[in-house]
Amino acid sequence: MPEGDAVLRTARRLDRALTGGVLTRTDVRVPRYATVDLAGQPVTGTVTRGKHLLTRIGADWTLHTHLKMDGSWATLRPGQRWPKPAHMARVVLETDATQAVGFLLGIVEVLPRAGEEEAVGHLGPDLLGADWDEDEAVRRLLTHPDEPVFDALRDQTSLAGLGTIWAAETGFTMGIHPMTRVGDVPDLVRTVRVARLKLQQAMERPGPLAVYGRERAVCRRCGTPIRRIEMGGREGRPRPAYFCPNCQPAR
Ligand SMILES: [Zn+2]
Repeated sequence: MPEGDAVLRTARRLDRALTGGVLTRTDVRVPRYATVDLAGQPVTGTVTRGKHLLTRIGADWTLHTHLKMDGSWATLRPGQRWPKPAHMARVVLETDATQAVGFLLGIVEVLPRAGEEEAVGHLGPDLLGADWDEDEAVRRLLTHPDEPVFDALRDQTSLAGLGTIWAAETGFTMGIHPMTRVGDVPDLVRTVRVARLKLQQAMERPGPLAVYGRERAVCRRCGTPIRRIEMGGREGRPRPAYFCPNCQPAR
C-alpha cells in the first residue's frame, strides 16, 4: 500500500497537472456519484492528509480519494492512451491540458468543502503535514499502551502517513521488535521522530531498505537472516512485519 511519501508525490503531480485548469469533463464511476458533473469549475489544488488525497474543485467541492492497496492516479495529455484498462478507472478529470485518471481507488467521494473535516478529521497528526504535532501523536499512541508497536505506528488515528514499509524500517532503526507493546518502547518520542524522518527521506532521496521485503536476506548490520511475521492491526487484514531477530530482540 502506498504510504504518506508516495501519496504526497501523487498529490504534487496532480497539483501540477490540474491546478489552475478548468474542468472540461468529469466522470465519477461510482454509482453514488454517477450523476455528478463538475465541468466548468476550476481545480484549485490537491493536498494530502496522511494517505488521503483532497482535490479541491471550485469554491464548494472536494474530491476525496484514497489509493488503498492497488489505487493510482495517472496524469496524461489529452487523448493519451491510458496505462490501465478503462474498467479499472474510478474517476476521470479533464482540462484543456490534462486528463487525470484515478484507477482502482479505494475511496472516491465528492464532498462539499465543509465535509472535508468529517472525512479526514479522525486522522492523527500528519507526519508530512505542515501542522505536524509530535506531542499529540505520542499522546495518542500512549492511549493504547498494550498494542504492538508495529500495529500502533500504522494506526492512522494516532499518526497519519505510515504503513508497513516505514513502520518496519523505523522498528529496525530503533532496535525494537514489532510485537513490543507501545508502553514498553524505551523511547517513543525518538521512535516517532525516526518514523517522520524516514518518510521525509523517502520524499527526497529513497535509500535501500534495511528489513522490509528482505525475508531470509541477511541483516546488513549483523548478518542474521531477516524474518517476516504476519501481524494484525485494527484494519483486520494481516500485514507482514519484517525484522532482524538479533538487532530487534523480543522484550
Ligand atoms: Zn541485525
